[in-house]
Amino acid sequence: QSQDRVFNFAAGPATLPESVLKTAESELYNWRGSGMSVMEMSHRGKEFLSIIQKAESDLRTLLNIPSDYSVLFLQGGATTQFAAIPLNICKPDDPVDYIVTGSWGDKAYKEATKYCKPSVIWSGKPEKYTRIPSFDGLEQNLHARYLHICANETIHGVEFKNYPTPSNKDALLIADMSSNFCSKPVDVSKFGLIYAGAQKNVGPSGVTIVIVRKDLIGGAQGITPVMLDYKIHDENNSLYNTPPCYGIYMCGLVFEDLLAQGGLVEVEKRNLKKANLLYDAIDGSNGFYRCPVEKSVRSLMNVPFTLEKSELEAEFVKEASKERMVQLKGHRSVGGMRASIYNAMPLAGVEKLVAFMKEFQARHG
Ligand code: PLP
Repeated sequence: QSQDRVFNFAAGPATLPESVLKTAESELYNWRGSGMSVMEMSHRGKEFLSIIQKAESDLRTLLNIPSDYSVLFLQGGATTQFAAIPLNICKPDDPVDYIVTGSWGDKAYKEATKYCKPSVIWSGKPEKYTRIPSFDGLEQNLHARYLHICANETIHGVEFKNYPTPSNKDALLIADMSSNFCSKPVDVSKFGLIYAGAQKNVGPSGVTIVIVRKDLIGGAQGITPVMLDYKIHDENNSLYNTPPCYGIYMCGLVFEDLLAQGGLVEVEKRNLKKANLLYDAIDGSNGFYRCPVEKSVRSLMNVPFTLEKSELEAEFVKEASKERMVQLKGHRSVGGMRASIYNAMPLAGVEKLVAFMKEFQARHG
């Protein structure tokens, strides 16, 4: 990584691959001989059509998305999908199930209460969102239309390592993958719908990706705003209205980069290596640093940790920032520290953090 760049551990918007930023820079004024920036192009012109089509096709290759799934590039963030999902998939009286393993799952559940009849069938809140339930004992609603999970809780650092199966064979599994999207291979066919804001692993904020099984499209409730109706976006190839063109272009560059790295099997290996390095440093610190999350479900993407001497936390964040490792403060709702180590965080960034942690402990331990 270039000397003038910091190691940015922010949870999102987050660090992007330097090579992608450099490509974008070189194409900023004049995209591939078009004489225009991507920001200036008509979304209906042949140049932008080639960009969005390539982005979709590369994402399909990366995630091995079956042909009976649509890929939509939308706006409004994952938060908008908290409403769009029940509006498109449920009737107002349909029961649906939510497993709540952190604040994002909780927000998704609360939004759904306006549009269908959701139940929280398990919540990690009493244990401060530090684990994932065993799927065996889960009591699911027999008639639930879907089972919703947040595949990786960005604030609490809890990640599903495998996925529950809805007990009703007609029910769908739906996942918010905002913070672990494209960080590892996923069997898309197990899900009715996957959604993700782009701004952690695959691009800038402003793009939300929805991967939805085609037979689920077309049944939106009558009150559904046109901008939330999957059918409208699907029929118009995500070009019903002006899409977030530049963001989609950036996502496309990231998908190309991930494919060039060897695809998601290779990406996962690198993510595992980074995460293990950091968790080992925490666990090997004789309690100086602590990660509250149960070991088997620790996130590869967001690593929350605290200091035994909590009064030193502000000093830790300040000193790290002086060493050009920024955004290590934990979310305002949980405190402590959090290192987000998405795909684009180089191993060198994690190595530098771990070296700093050891040195900080030597001074303060
Ligand atoms: N879901 C998860 C897991 C997130 O991490 C976030 C944002 O950080 C959201 C949903 C909300 O996403 P957005 O800000 O794109 O609406």
